[in-house]
Amino acid sequence: MYIRGIQLLVTIYLCCGAFNEQPIKLKSMRVFITSFLISMVGLVSNGQDYSRQDSLRGTITPEREWWDLSYYHLNIAVDIDNQSVQGSNTIRYKVLEPSQILQVDLQPPMEIFKITQDGKELEYKQERNAYFVELKKPQITDAYNEIIVQYGGKPRIAPRPPWDSGIVWKKDSMGKDFVSSISWGAGSSQWWPCKDHMYDEVDSLKFSINVRDDLMAVANGRLLSIDKKNNKTKTYHWSVSNPINNYGVNFNIGNYVHFSEVYEGEKGSLDCDYYVLKQNRKKAKKHFKQVPMMLEAFEYWFGPYPFYEDSYKLVEVPYIGMEHQSATAYGNGYQNGYLGSDMSNTGWGNKFDYIIIHESGHEWFACNITFKDVADIWIHESFTTYSEGLYVEYHYGKEAGDDYQIGVRGNIKNDRTMIGNYGVNDLNYTDDIYSKGPTILHMLRQIVNNDEKWREVLRGLGNEFYHQTVTTEQIENYISKETELDLSSFWNQYLRTTQIPVFEYYFANGKLSYKWTNAIEEFIMPLKITLNGKGEWIYPKTNWQEMDTNSEELTLKVDRNFYVPSFFSNSN
Ligand SMILES: [Zn+2]
Repeated sequence: MYIRGIQLLVTIYLCCGAFNEQPIKLKSMRVFITSFLISMVGLVSNGQDYSRQDSLRGTITPEREWWDLSYYHLNIAVDIDNQSVQGSNTIRYKVLEPSQILQVDLQPPMEIFKITQDGKELEYKQERNAYFVELKKPQITDAYNEIIVQYGGKPRIAPRPPWDSGIVWKKDSMGKDFVSSISWGAGSSQWWPCKDHMYDEVDSLKFSINVRDDLMAVANGRLLSIDKKNNKTKTYHWSVSNPINNYGVNFNIGNYVHFSEVYEGEKGSLDCDYYVLKQNRKKAKKHFKQVPMMLEAFEYWFGPYPFYEDSYKLVEVPYIGMEHQSATAYGNGYQNGYLGSDMSNTGWGNKFDYIIIHESGHEWFACNITFKDVADIWIHESFTTYSEGLYVEYHYGKEAGDDYQIGVRGNIKNDRTMIGNYGVNDLNYTDDIYSKGPTILHMLRQIVNNDEKWREVLRGLGNEFYHQTVTTEQIENYISKETELDLSSFWNQYLRTTQIPVFEYYFANGKLSYKWTNAIEEFIMPLKITLNGKGEWIYPKTNWQEMDTNSEELTLKVDRNFYVPSFFSNSN
């Protein structure tokens, strides 16, 4: 998924990028940090009001905590003429500790008709979007049990796909029905009953979709079989054999044609399947040649594609695109950039199709490694946006990759902290997860100062947290441990405040004095500079440090890969 609007805030970019492009030649100086910068990057409150409904949705409630998802069989009929969905979800779970009340989520106007366990109908109480099911059978630790939830209705029409959930009902350019589901935003429970919290992923999934027989239904994983019915419909049975998060589950219906190829990757032969509208087959066959290029680059940086068993797919959809595990949604019009625009403003963003690269990058960060709580959404979007620059670097060289990463900085707003509020399904996140996030990862790479090590860390993340849900702390601790660096103040500064540390310095009597300002007190971060034409690492703290330059003059330039403003003045 990408940013909800294209905003370009050039100011910070000018401060941090353009000023650093030119060496600053000074005799004796004092750095002045203009007050506008401080006001711009000052702390902004994340204060929000949350409702009981937000907590029911966003908390691991006692009625969720005692059971662990094992398997879903989502079995639905999609009636396009009536814009309705009807069917059932079989929810298999493991009992972690005995309890008799189980929470299932489904949002109006969708309704639950009946819930059964072992053929016996169960009572349930509804509180807003949550249903509390009263189980009759004793729930014994380690037992696997199932409930079947029958439901239906006219799900909400997705108001702004992919940023808000529901169903997209459209016609394609040939007038054929073109339908997709979206689960981001308000959530999967907009159109199917589930445990609508990200911490618990189902281990495997079967998804059966009944549609009119002139159309095809495509979902996650592999197509198992197609049943022809007597009523001019077909049921497509899809199967996912790996853990999958809720918002990754999706169906797409259209006048599709299918073509495929096999990519010989790090883990063997990977089936790549493409489902595109019939009229776009020719264009797609040419344009999707970017897929093997993407796989080559991302397997190099992040390790094997995480779902070989379930194949890789691109599926054409009636909206821009979305990460959907093993069934990446594609709607970028077979062109490079983001609907033709370069998100980095460097020219490099027009060398690739943004949706193919970005949404596929999410297979590693979002589908493989999934946040437990949406407050940590930076993990999905920051690593994935960072992957775009790594793609550029892999195919066009390191300088091009650096250009891209630095270009993305132009979108930073510093309006809210990167980490949101926990336990309340906080969707009011900052778009900085797409700009500041990759920027700090790029800066971290400079600090590690060993590209092979950095690649090991990136690949290690995919291994360490393979098919898991994680917290920010787990990611922080892993990177700190593997790099053998104390990064605690780095994470606290950049993830938990909106302040951007400024490199403040002056030059007098042959001595360079410097420190971090606009930073948390304990902030330490090495900085690469060019001093009198020579590359140097310096180690500013938040109190003044001093360094003999053995020179009457000073030329100082902060390395462009650091997102570090450094203001100066010629006045003595
Ligand atoms: Zn994204």
